[in-house]
Parts: sequence; structure tokens; C-alpha cells
Amino acid sequence: MSIMDTPAEESQDLGAHEEAGAASRRSFLRMAGAGVAGTLGAGAIAGTAVGVEHYSDTASARRRGDGATVATLSSATSINVLWRARTDRKVIALTFDDGPSAEHTERLLDELREAKARATFAVVGRNAAQFRDLVRRQHNDGHEVANHTWNHTDLSLHEYDRCKRELSRTDELVADLTGSPTAVIRPPFGRVNGQLLQYAAQTGQKVVLWDMRLLEDQFDAAGNAAYVLDHLRPGTVVLAHDAGLTKRKVGMAAIPGILAGAHKLGYEFVTVSEMFDLDGA
Ligand SMILES: [Zn+2]
Repeated sequence: MSIMDTPAEESQDLGAHEEAGAASRRSFLRMAGAGVAGTLGAGAIAGTAVGVEHYSDTASARRRGDGATVATLSSATSINVLWRARTDRKVIALTFDDGPSAEHTERLLDELREAKARATFAVVGRNAAQFRDLVRRQHNDGHEVANHTWNHTDLSLHEYDRCKRELSRTDELVADLTGSPTAVIRPPFGRVNGQLLQYAAQTGQKVVLWDMRLLEDQFDAAGNAAYVLDHLRPGTVVLAHDAGLTKRKVGMAAIPGILAGAHKLGYEFVTVSEMFDLDGA
């Protein structure tokens, strides 16, 4: 489903913040989140809504309106959001969200090193605080460390101050651990709102979504590797997870096959920031 497929009354809610019901706005954002990556075709499935959280500041965020917040807090006129790069070069960006974790991250780093492949780790701040050495190693091994908020919060439900806290705390920790602040934000659940864009504009960061994700519910490890390799095209950004649910084991077990297979197809593994640079270049 694309954003264009969204029923008219849902779209109109965006411009009628005083009257729009919270449920219908959330519904729109969920659909928009799914639609952003869903328009990319090639069997890509992304932005699936899971674990919606409810907070008391949702109502005031809706009342104020995202656009108004952006207009009053920033002089920026646009921001760079990417789910796949427009390029002819055979490049792929593997992205790993939600970590680091004791279970997966170290072995994954070993596999990437073995394959001489670089990737992007969108870390959750509270996990990064627990596994500081793993974040340092991610950086020292040449990978990119991106911001996935402190608590894996659905930013689309919050107003600016909460979004900023979630992102800046992780920014500061990553800068502390690696010597450089994050350049890219990967919003949890792929949900984007004006507050997030505002923060990104203010800090000079970019926002990355994805155009393909591992399908741990549908395929085993070999099936996931085959799925990615079958749908691979220049500029693809793949979403995987190196922490979280038990099913992540399936996705993690698919990585060696993806590394070997993509390499065989002539693909080079790049970071997300490099993918932004290649987009349209
Ligand atoms: Zn996540």
C-alpha cells in the first residue's frame, strides 16, 4: 500500500488536528510508515506496525501539529530521507537495528570482518550503554553507528521535547564511545513525524528507512538469504536486527549467506552514509 492509497478521510485528518481522533491519526501514521517502503515494489515488505505505545503527550502533539513545530523551531527547508539509493553501482547497505546484544552482535562483527564487509548498526541507546565495547568495536571495524533512539520509542506519538530526549541521549553516548556523533537516524518502526525531522534538521542528520527487510516469520535462514539475493538491486538498504525477539536468530543465521551471495554477484557493502552520498550521484 502506498500513501496515495490511504483513504481520503485519513489523509484529511493530517490537516485537521483539532478534530482528528488519536486513533485515526495513529492509523494514518501506521499506514504511511508501511507505505513508504511498500511503494518500492519487488516484494519488499517494510514498516510493519508492531507494539504501538501510548503516552500522555500524544494528545498535545496532535493539537499543536507537526508542521507548526517544524516551522517555529528551524530554519531548515528540507531534510534527506532515504530508503534506497538511486545508483547504478552495485552497492548494498546492511543495517542492523535494536542492538547491541550479547547474543548476536559479536558474532555478527566477526562475520562482517571475515567478509570484509561494512554495515550500519542502528543502536538503541540503553543497549549501547550496556555493551559499550561492542559499539566501540563497531566503529573501529569501520561500520557506521546510527541512532535508533534511547528506548526504542515510537517517535510518531510524541512531541518535540520527548523526541529530542530520546535521540540526543543516544547521540551523546555514541559520540562519547566513538568520538563522532551519529550522522543518521533510523526511526523505530520506520515511523516518521515532524518532530523527528525537526531534530534531524537541527543536528544535521539524515533519516534512513529501508527497502527490504528480512522476513524471519516467513522463511528460514537459507530462505531469507535467497529472498534478499533474489530481490537485490543497486542501492538496496536491507533491514535486519542483531537483538530482540527469538526469531532474530533466523535473520542472523541468514547473514553469512547474504554476505557470500551478494559478493558473488559483484556487490560492495557500504554504510548508510555512503549510500546517501551515492544517491543520485
Ligand atoms: Zn527497532
